[in-house]
Amino acid sequence: MRMTKILVTIGPSSEVMHILYRMIKEGADGVRINFAHGNVESRIKYVKTVREIEKKLEIHIPIIGDIQGPTFRLGDIEEFKVKRDDVIYLINASKGNAKEKLVPLPNTRLYDSIEEGDIILIEGGRLKFYVERLLEDKIQCKVLNDGVIRSRKTVTIYGKEPDVVPITNKDIKDVEFSVKHGLDYLALSFVRRANDVKLLRDLLSEKGGEEIKIIAKIETKQAVRNLHEIIKVSDAILIARGDLGMYFDLAEIPKIQEYIVRECIKYGKPVILATQILESMVSNPMPMRSEVVDAFNAVKQGVDALLLTSETSIGSYPVETVKWLRKIIEEGEKDLCLQVEGVNETIYDKFAKGVCLLANSIGAKVIAYTRRGNTARRISRYRIRNPTIVVTNSEKVARQINILWGIRPLYVEASDYNEAWFKAFEKLKSKGIIAYGDIVILTTGLREGATDLVKIEIVR
Ligand code: PGA
Ligand code: MN
Repeated sequence: MRMTKILVTIGPSSEVMHILYRMIKEGADGVRINFAHGNVESRIKYVKTVREIEKKLEIHIPIIGDIQGPTFRLGDIEEFKVKRDDVIYLINASKGNAKEKLVPLPNTRLYDSIEEGDIILIEGGRLKFYVERLLEDKIQCKVLNDGVIRSRKTVTIYGKEPDVVPITNKDIKDVEFSVKHGLDYLALSFVRRANDVKLLRDLLSEKGGEEIKIIAKIETKQAVRNLHEIIKVSDAILIARGDLGMYFDLAEIPKIQEYIVRECIKYGKPVILATQILESMVSNPMPMRSEVVDAFNAVKQGVDALLLTSETSIGSYPVETVKWLRKIIEEGEKDLCLQVEGVNETIYDKFAKGVCLLANSIGAKVIAYTRRGNTARRISRYRIRNPTIVVTNSEKVARQINILWGIRPLYVEASDYNEAWFKAFEKLKSKGIIAYGDIVILTTGLREGATDLVKIEIVR
């Protein structure tokens, strides 16, 4: 039984049914739709495909909608090549002029925040400019590497975070889409403080999507600084190494990753690691040694899930990438033993901790019943290796808990936990997941939000 989960980003490489089907068969536990790309039609198709596979395989696949948040892009300009040491000019306009090398930056706030000596990164750093002089109506920059300037590419100023609205009008439309099409999670990009998450939470309840859980993407300096307050208000945390690497010195990323993972586990918050996990597999059928070591180490750190991005959305080997990641995880989990020192534990967390201790000491399988996912998260946070099945009577909750470390969801129609356990027992016995003589620990909360009941049974 694999504990660490695999999430994949769906895109042109993986949208066809048989590819996605094979990715899920190879171990993909959840799917991300990136609202920064594609259109409404393609997204409707993605959702439909995932739900069909889910039915066919009788499993629960969470769909995560990734809200773009505030990003800055160049305006429109005819494509042109630049070479190292060329001089170009940034102008505060929506249209540029390739001949005169006037590159348009429509956002005034970003434009105004540029200072002499800044480094400007285009397309995630694929192209870099050095800001030489602020002129009256333009900004003179020296090009630092050869490349191509194209319309609508992303722009960041290295190390700087201009003040912006956390949720844009486009994001609001994407939230509406997510509610309408029954998405399970929303990941919010460029979160800077707890309040950004709260704004999304308010927006969700205003739109009737209060059941959708929120993943805060940690990818700015402020988010790292405000990590604890963000952890407290979010349902999960995503370490977005792509953008994080643009706001910090790249050499600091391993340390920051280690810190975020450790804090999330301590606070019992699910943590997902993303970006360039097996990046070279975008164009190669095998990963690089260093990538294998990185993914292996993430498993050792105890992350809940690894999220593949371009590997599965635009890469040439989406199925092979999932297969490789699964193999690396399986290796990493051999004799994995995570000691979790919880902080901020409620009495129910401590109860769950006791249940885990008990399961561990008697070698039991755990069958939990959860209404909203709380008991699932509580069991997961202590990282026990015992097979753990969490039964729920909500399909959405079954999907949501599938990103959690070590948790296997099982949906049954039931009106109380006794009925749910009974039905789960029958199902699990028929599938051979539990068998005669197994010791099973049953746990749940007597009411919503609690975990305060434990029973032991021997399978007959
Ligand atoms: P993105 O987020 O793919 O939405 O940019 C991931 C990252 O920044 O690492
Ligand atoms: Mn990002």
